[in-house]
Amino acid sequence: MNSSSSEPSSDFIRTIIAEDLKTGKNNGRVATRFPPEPNGYLHIGHAKSICLNFSIAAENRGGTCNLRFDDTNPGREDVEYVESIMKDVKWLGFDWQDRLFYASDYFEQLYQYAVQLIKKGRAYVCSLSPEQIRQYRGTLTEPGRDSPYRSRSVEENLDLFERMRAGEFADGTHVLRAKIDMSSPNLNMRDPVIYRIMKATHHRTGNKWCIYPMYDFTHCLSDSIERITHSICTLEFEDHRPLYDWFLDELEVKCHPQQIEFARLSLSYTVMSKRMLMELVEHGDVTGWDDPRMPTIAGMRRRGYTPGAIRAFCKRIGVAKRESMVDIALLEHCLREELNRCAPRVMGVLKPLRVIVDNYPEGQVEDLDAINNPEDPAMGARKIPFSRVLYIEQDDFMEEPPKKFYRLAPGREVRLRYAYFIKCVEVIKDEKTGKVVELHCTYDPETRGGDAPDGRKVKATLHWVSAACCLDAEVRLYDRLFLKENPCEEKDGPDFKSFLNPDSLKILKDCRVEPGLKDAKPGSIYQFERLGYFCVDEVDSSSESLVFNRTVTLRDAWANIKKRGS
Ligand code: ATP
Ligand code: MG
Repeated sequence: MNSSSSEPSSDFIRTIIAEDLKTGKNNGRVATRFPPEPNGYLHIGHAKSICLNFSIAAENRGGTCNLRFDDTNPGREDVEYVESIMKDVKWLGFDWQDRLFYASDYFEQLYQYAVQLIKKGRAYVCSLSPEQIRQYRGTLTEPGRDSPYRSRSVEENLDLFERMRAGEFADGTHVLRAKIDMSSPNLNMRDPVIYRIMKATHHRTGNKWCIYPMYDFTHCLSDSIERITHSICTLEFEDHRPLYDWFLDELEVKCHPQQIEFARLSLSYTVMSKRMLMELVEHGDVTGWDDPRMPTIAGMRRRGYTPGAIRAFCKRIGVAKRESMVDIALLEHCLREELNRCAPRVMGVLKPLRVIVDNYPEGQVEDLDAINNPEDPAMGARKIPFSRVLYIEQDDFMEEPPKKFYRLAPGREVRLRYAYFIKCVEVIKDEKTGKVVELHCTYDPETRGGDAPDGRKVKATLHWVSAACCLDAEVRLYDRLFLKENPCEEKDGPDFKSFLNPDSLKILKDCRVEPGLKDAKPGSIYQFERLGYFCVDEVDSSSESLVFNRTVTLRDAWANIKKRGS
């Protein structure tokens, strides 16, 4: 599990492909595709598939990876989703070049393939109702029964299918089915429906069609038309593979891709089904597909995830045949690794407590040197202003400090990062509430930017900002979306939404950040020293009113898990 991003990956899929190349299969071509249905936004599970398909193409000379929209369900699909998917794939760092396809571009070809099946006696128009079709299908333990329409003649089938296309029949009155085997132990082979009537407007073909091909029929033929060599999909399609092969064999196509299945990504404390994510969006449990708590690419981007961190994560989890749940702490670990390298450090105070430095000259502002990223000297340095009135974090002061609390307390001295030692000499409290509202301190001018010349030590270094120069900001603190590791664990258990974390978002309106952030660009990410990584919100932030999203805290749960484990 220690693969760095420069090492090539290997897994059972890459092994199959390498073997195919060795034996000269597909004339040495490697062609993959990523085939999303545009019925929602992409999530981190899709990122696993995107990384896999595009990387395999890139690793092989002349390899290609198509982006293909599997748009055969006009009722649920929308251009909004098409556009978001293209944006997300690009943002992740992948390029389909001129290889953008839509299953809907093949509607005429697919129709002709269906006609071909009918002519071979391998498909028929069935006029059972959807409910009857379900009943006739049988179960895992009982064989199905033949539809009474199974023996329709080729001529009758051709005629009916043409009239289905012409719009003569209402939705649900007829379907076209493949004629395979109603007693097959594999339910997918029991005369599956391959076309249904749906008088819906398609986002690309408009009202041209009123019959639409089903996924299994469309998918294998789209792969074949595009001359895909390896059709990589998730494990739930394993039982569909016989059908994938059946269509391609019956239709005697020139290109017969190989379907290979891998385990889908499941991530703890979240859900990864578009249906569930859609429900959260539609019921207002989150603010939208790009809510920073969502496991969508759009949400993660807004939260402050970087494409590099997501790619590193996908590489680390690898691909396998066995389903497993990945700890979200690993994803956060990959993010911290990247942000530690590339995020500039700044100081921000989330819950400000006023500090007056009594012996510091009133009206004086002094610029102190601060390093932008100790991990990367090339990121340089900046100046931060110090003045008589400062803010520190409320949590960094305790009037009666317990053991092991080394931060500021009455009579105690601490260091202010990049500035001076200060010592607390007086605590001002609100008369009514008893709450600490202000501290008076003294500073030691000899300690500027470093240690005390007399060698005395302090046990804590605090972050701070100058009250005279700082900027106001809103900070949004995000936590896990769900309280339960696997919110969909029990099939008949409580609804997944009952496990939503009511505290997944806390908004702090009274924060202060250092003045250099005035022109921080939307989307840019900083480390607030001692607190975590924060990203300027792309949607709500402006230079007049800054809004930051907490991307992730500094504490690394994954590092601890690993330490405990080894
Ligand atoms: P969902 O179950 O969320 O609705 P889907 O499989 O229906 O997802 P598609 O748009 O059909 O969504 O998915 C496009 C591709 O992404 C498919 O090849 C699918 O196998 C893959 N994919 C979807 N979810 C995951 C996941 N969790 N892990 C890995 N690959 C995934
Ligand atoms: Mg799907």
